[in-house]
Amino acid sequence: MEKDKTDQINKNTTLTQRLFIERENLCPLCSEQLSIRIKSYEENFTIAEEAYCESCELVTRTKDHKFN
Ligand SMILES: [Zn+2]
Repeated sequence: MEKDKTDQINKNTTLTQRLFIERENLCPLCSEQLSIRIKSYEENFTIAEEAYCESCELVTRTKDHKFN
């Protein structure tokens, strides 16, 4: 019983996060779905995440993640 409850909460969280990501990933210029590009720099333990539009080549954001 308790386990089922936990699973349900996890599912809801995942769905909310996915909806948020989908909304964030539309091009502000042409409303096309953005593609995510991940680059990793192993020498300084950083992952750079870029969202870009294939039709107008706009890069809307980059995020750096440290994973050390
Ligand atoms: Zn675009």
